[in-house]
This record gives sequence, C-alpha cells and structure tokens, in this order.
Amino acid sequence: MKQLSVKLKLTVWLSLLITLLAGLLLAFMLSVSSHVALSTAMSRLDKTLRSNISQVSLTDGKLQLGEDFSFYRDGISTLIYSKEKALLAGQLPVSFQWETSFQNGLLRTIGDSGSKYLVLDIWVPAGWDNGLWLRGLTELPKAGETIRNLLVAGLLVMPLFIALAALGSYRIVKRSFRPLDSIASTAAEITEARDLSKRICLPPGKDEFSRLADTFDQLFERLEQSFETQKQFTSDASHELRTPVSVIKGACEYAMKYDETPQERQETLSMIYRQSLKMSALISQLLSITRLDQGTELIKPVPVDLNELLHSCLEVPDFQGKALLLEPGEPITVLADASQLSRLITNLVENAFKYGKPGGHVWVRTMQTDREVLIQVKDDGIGIPPEEQDKIWKRFYQVDPARSQGSGAGLGLSIVQQIAQAHKGRMTLESTPGLGSCFTLHLPLSREI
Ligand code: ADP
Repeated sequence: MKQLSVKLKLTVWLSLLITLLAGLLLAFMLSVSSHVALSTAMSRLDKTLRSNISQVSLTDGKLQLGEDFSFYRDGISTLIYSKEKALLAGQLPVSFQWETSFQNGLLRTIGDSGSKYLVLDIWVPAGWDNGLWLRGLTELPKAGETIRNLLVAGLLVMPLFIALAALGSYRIVKRSFRPLDSIASTAAEITEARDLSKRICLPPGKDEFSRLADTFDQLFERLEQSFETQKQFTSDASHELRTPVSVIKGACEYAMKYDETPQERQETLSMIYRQSLKMSALISQLLSITRLDQGTELIKPVPVDLNELLHSCLEVPDFQGKALLLEPGEPITVLADASQLSRLITNLVENAFKYGKPGGHVWVRTMQTDREVLIQVKDDGIGIPPEEQDKIWKRFYQVDPARSQGSGAGLGLSIVQQIAQAHKGRMTLESTPGLGSCFTLHLPLSREI
C-alpha cells in the first residue's frame, strides 16, 4: 500500500468505504423489513381471529358457524377447539408439529430453525361453564432463508458493485487531483527548461488547490524577479569593474612597450593606483550589498548615542575643513548597529559634498518625534529632478554619471536603503533642482531588530 500513488490509495479507501456502507445499509434494511413483516403478521392474525369470533357459537352443545367464518384467509389458519382442547373444526398446517398449551389472548411464536409460527388463542365463552377455543396460526417468513438468498444475490452482484465503486472513485479522485498534476507539470517545466516566466494559472476559485496554485505563482513571480535582479546586478558589477581593469591593462601595456620618462612612469603609476582604489571601493560596496542581501552581514543592535556617533564619523580627514555644519541636538540613544549606521551617515555626507555646489554647505542634525528618531543630511547643491527621485535608490543607478566625477558607481544610496530597512526604518528625500537635497533616515522608536 505504501508504494501506491495517493490517487490509487484514495481510490482503494473510497471503494472500501462505499462497499462497507452498502453492506451496512443492506443489513439495516433487512432488520427493518423483518420487524415490519412480524408486526404486519401479528396485526393480521389478531384481526382475522377477532372477526371469526363473531361468526362462531355453541348452541345446545352444537357448534354453529356464521357465513363469514373462514378457516383460512390471508395466510391465517383458524382452528376451533372444545373446552377440553379437542379439535372440533379446522385443519392444522402440515408443518405445524408442536403441542402447545392454550393461553387466552397471548401472541407468541412457536417453532424451530426450520419454520416458525405466530400463534394466538382466544377463549369464546358459551353459557355458564362452557365455551370454545379459537386458535389462529400463521407461518412466519423463514429469516435464515431470506438472508441466504440475499447473501447469494449479494455475492453475485458484489464484484460488479465493487468494480463500479472503484471506477467511480477513481474518476472522482483523478478529477479532483487534476489541478495538482498541473502544478507538478509546471514546476517540472520550470526546472527542465529553466524558464521562470511560466505560471500555473488555474481558473480562479476558493478551493485548496486554487490557493496552492496561487501561492506557487506568487513564488515563481518572486523567484523570477530576484533572478532577474541578480542577473542585472552581476552584469552591472562586471561592467563597472571592467572599466578600471581596462584602464590599468592599457597603462601597463603602454609602459611595457615604450620607454617612459620617470615623470611619465610616475603618472602611469598614480593612475593605476587611482583605478585600483576605485576598484577596491567598488568591491567593498558589492560585498556589503551581497552580505546585507544574504543576511550574512548581521545587524548587532546596541544602544548608540547619536550625537557621539555623528561626531566620530564626521571627524574623518575627508570631511574636515569642509563646510560641514553639525547641529547639536538633544542627546538621543537608539538601538542600532553602530558601524552600519555610521556607514549610512558617511554615504549621505559624501554624496552631499559630491553633489554640493562649490563653497556650499552640508548640514547634519538629529531629531526625535513622538514615534521616530530622525537623522537628516541636507545640502544646498544641485538637487535631484522629481522624476529621478524614486530611481536613485536602485542599484547602479546614477542620474548623470558625469556628475559623480567618476567617483561612484550608483551603489551608495542602495546600501543606505538596505541599512535603513535592516533597522526596520525608512529613507525619505526632499529635493529641489538647483536648491539642494535633504535625505532623512526615519528610525522607529519602539523597535526590535
Ligand atoms: P553615486 O556613486 O553615483 O553617488 P549613489 O547611489 O550614492 O551613487 O547616488 C545615486 C545618484 O543619486 C547619484 O548618481 C546622484 O546623481 C544622485 N544623488 C545622490 N545624492 C545626491 C545629492 N546629495 N544631491 C544630488 N544628487 C544626489
């Protein structure tokens, strides 16, 4: 049984159940019909005997019978006995072979496994101390025989009945399992053809299979999306790495082919160094994104004093001497991963300088509202056009690559957003082209990360 498919197992169980129920129904009907037969026979016997009473009398010791008296009617035999129980009229059925005492008005069954009779005696008084006994007899249907007949008929019909039950059950099960076959074959097609665009698309319904198919379709949708994102990410990353690699390769080939002056060599080396710094920055950004994606770069939340964090990450030589205005706020402590939060702030401040105007300013401040803690980085630089504001969070997206002066690859803000989300927070942006931008990190106050 363990080796059978679910369809076959269900078919077998259903067929067995139907056969069992049919057997039980047959037994029930048999028992009800024998009860009905017995009670019908009883009332018929009683009625016939009582109608005969009025037709019998004893006048001067002589038995008188009315016109309507019947010795045998509807399977009921009526016998007339004297007071001394001597048979006066009527004939005992041949198969009635039992001596039985007379009991006035008591209905009883007499007999053995061969045949059974229902017997009723009634005393009909005639005069002071005389009278007659009327005895009614009727043979009961032989139960054993009926059951045997039914069993024989059942045994003959049963194989056909089981075959029909099995066939019907199999068709029902097969029909019910059709959506599951469709789910399995679509999943197999996706695996074999590596085509994630396929969908099961069952007709809409509320049954379990429709819901399962819907869930699978959503799963395939998400798989396809993440596969496409991954593909795009790999191709963009290779493209970004190819540029500095080609520059380094070209510079090395030139240096090996031609005799460069010491000054030219110095220039070549510093170019290679710049390109390698660029590659190294890109590789570390790619690693961060991948680790945050995979969840391997785990967030380790600790209480962080925001003012202290801002001072420590803005004190780096890169930002010193620039027009960075840190607005001291109320002391705020948040539960966060200090190194991730510092990377987020550094990315935003770097961008604010990169896209700020010459001689412009960058402001950084912290605030606390009823439900959130805010960290804001604002500049008075070139700003971002409204139609670009949703796109800048995408990986490798740059509004205008020329504006970043070749120092970025469009990954900074997607890392910022990933870090914000890992802290159950969100990023918002207000920007006006020509006037400047303000990036805000919103961290929920009551937060479990
Ligand atoms: P990039 O390496 O190009 O700076 P980012 O992901 O950090 O990549 O930023 C994506 C794009 O958003 C940038 O190319 C730039 O055009 C725009 N951007 C980011 N920050 C600012 C800012 N403070 N002001 C104006 N534009 C910005």
